[in-house]
Amino acid sequence: MENRKKQLTRYQLVTWIIGILSLFLCLSLYVRFNKDAILEKLYPPVPEPVSTPDAEEKKGRWTNELPDDLTSRSSILVYVNEAHPLPADYAPDDLTEINIPSTGAAIVLREEAGKKAQEMLKAAKEDDIDLYLTAGYRSYKNQEELYASYVSLLGEARASALVEKGGCSEHQTGLSIDITNDSSGAQLNEEFAETDAYKWMSENAYKYGYILRFPKGKKHITGLSFQPWHYRYVGTKTAKKMHKKEKNITFEEYFGIYVEE
Ligand SMILES: [Zn+2]
Repeated sequence: MENRKKQLTRYQLVTWIIGILSLFLCLSLYVRFNKDAILEKLYPPVPEPVSTPDAEEKKGRWTNELPDDLTSRSSILVYVNEAHPLPADYAPDDLTEINIPSTGAAIVLREEAGKKAQEMLKAAKEDDIDLYLTAGYRSYKNQEELYASYVSLLGEARASALVEKGGCSEHQTGLSIDITNDSSGAQLNEEFAETDAYKWMSENAYKYGYILRFPKGKKHITGLSFQPWHYRYVGTKTAKKMHKKEKNITFEEYFGIYVEE
């Protein structure tokens, strides 16, 4: 009886050991084959604009002679990118904190752009479209930090197609907003382009002076991939004229900065 008990205990012990070893084996195999997914869960990436490459690239040329309206920093038409950067110490002098739906962080914009953004989101709400901002004005330093975080996540090549270096972003002008809604999971990605909220923006943003700054298939002109979330304030007069000329015409095409050849 005693022997049988001992045998049973030994048998149980061996079963336990085999069980635990199999569990470890399964676990290590799971980790091995799902490493990326696990790492992503443990260290979720910062909300990352994901863009597909623009298929069509036409040939054209840029002009360097810009009208005064586009080079004056205080103008609502100021043109900013890598070829036309802003100095590190530049900040607009009428920056105002805007009371507007957002992902939490305070949204700061130039006064006129902020007022119009408020009107726009109010009108959207009246049409049952819930939109909120994830970003407005960004300082040179914040832009540098953002760019560095993208580079460390995605490498230089992908990062530079998605986000600008310090001084090269329109967010430093206080005239640009990043906008999204819940159905795209509050992430800045191309899924937003499939939402009713994006459709509403496409049909109405220009009435409030905002234009889609980086439309689809225009990377060869704007320098950046499709960003359905990024809108730029250019004033209602200009936005309406642009919309009338061609829906989603780029800033560069409208002002003759880029000419197709
Ligand atoms: Zn943006």
